[in-house]
Amino acid sequence: MSESAMTEPAAQGELGTVVIGGGLAAAHCVHSLREGGYTKPITLIASENEVPYERPPLSKEFLQGNKQAQELEPFAADWYADTDVDLRLGVTAESIDTAAKAVSLGGSAPVGYENLVIATGCRSRLGGRNANMAGWDLPGVYTLRSLEDSKKIKEQLVSGKRLVIIGAGWIGMEVAASARTAGVEVTVITPDQVPLATAMGTEFGAHVAQLHIANGVQCRFGTAVSGIASDPEKGLVVQTPTGDIPADFVLLAIGAVPNNELAVAAGLEVGTGVVVDEYLRSSDSNILAIGDIAEAYNTTLGRAMRVEHWDNAIRQGKLAAATILGRDESYDWLPYFFTDQFDLGMEYVGDRGADDDVVVRGDMAAGEFVIFWLRQGVVTAAMNVNIWDVNDHLRSMIGKNIPVSTLQDTGNDLMTL
Ligand SMILES: Cc1cc2nc3c(=O)[nH]c(=O)nc-3n(C[C@H](O)[C@H](O)[C@H](O)COP(=O)(O)OP(=O)(O)OC[C@H]3O[C@@H](n4cnc5c(N)ncnc54)[C@H](O)[C@@H]3O)c2cc1C
Repeated sequence: MSESAMTEPAAQGELGTVVIGGGLAAAHCVHSLREGGYTKPITLIASENEVPYERPPLSKEFLQGNKQAQELEPFAADWYADTDVDLRLGVTAESIDTAAKAVSLGGSAPVGYENLVIATGCRSRLGGRNANMAGWDLPGVYTLRSLEDSKKIKEQLVSGKRLVIIGAGWIGMEVAASARTAGVEVTVITPDQVPLATAMGTEFGAHVAQLHIANGVQCRFGTAVSGIASDPEKGLVVQTPTGDIPADFVLLAIGAVPNNELAVAAGLEVGTGVVVDEYLRSSDSNILAIGDIAEAYNTTLGRAMRVEHWDNAIRQGKLAAATILGRDESYDWLPYFFTDQFDLGMEYVGDRGADDDVVVRGDMAAGEFVIFWLRQGVVTAAMNVNIWDVNDHLRSMIGKNIPVSTLQDTGNDLMTL
């Protein structure tokens, strides 16, 4: 029998939606489809063995032991079974045949589709553009993307152990805070002068650096790592031009790479991610892409963007379902994300540019403040730090022309600005 003759559920007569990826975007897509009254077959192909879960706690509450694995699931395992979603855990989609409208799986028959949603997310970056970092695969060197990764790192969080974190982005700094809180001796290394430099600029980066230093994190900023080696006497050593740094374990936290390969092989248009329109449809109108993998056209900002954040994965999962259900909704919201490190909690909304003017409202030294970013007098982004229940209001200020003096004057009630 030919492969296409064996394809299911086409053989049973009805094609439905197949979602590839078992992350947050995929989970919200299938949930919104069923909640929206979709009655056709839904198949969710997930290469991990876990019921879809949220990743933000992997560097925070779960790593600190303050949340259990089951608490990370947006929808319990029973929900998939009860709503007739064919959840295939531990199964990897190997290729997409756009002509036959079928997805090939390792070890079982291909699955036919009417609509296909690609939600394959990202994987941890292991090195630069052309080569992995020397020593990335040594025992004791970790990356953090999955629940399994987080469990392995958690086992290492023993007071007095030495952790070197390579990279000072969100995941690096969050793990630094979690590990330090557990009494681990933490060193963070980055070639940048402050952490989070690319994501947030120098003002907030310097504030985060001070917070970590005050909590005992060793910060080796302006330092490039050349590789990781294993020394019979010292254990692991992280090599830098200014000397080796010994470690009991190392976290490589130098960013993420979108899992684009399936889409590229299928001949879809791919840029930094799978290129999709404001309805999340790719260059093949039967195929959508969502979450970290999607380079989607944002109607409010008037350009395509790829966003690696929790809120975006949820919303794009819901939007893909709306598109499949024939609803007239589009990708029109501004990027949003949050972090928690030591006693700092913050939320960001908007689309700051590297050259935007920075306006601080409140006292950064006191740890409670709002940062606004402005381009030619217009607010492009805002971030509330340790001030709560204001982010929706900050969102409403984006795109408005508000004088700097008004933004800075804490005598004005923020909620009336
Ligand atoms: C440690 C960590 C902390 C984070 N903290 C925050 C935070 O504080 N705030 C915030 O806004 N965002 C945070 N994020 C980012 C957020 O978790 C992601 O944006 C979100 O998970 C993206 O969801 P997704 O469904 O697009 O992709 P993913 O969650 O990456 O899921 C993709 C899934 O697809 C599977 N897959 C890939 N290829 C295939 C295939 N061929 N077949 C089958 N399955 C496949 C993968 O194994 C994976 O399970 C964090 C991420 C990490 C890793």
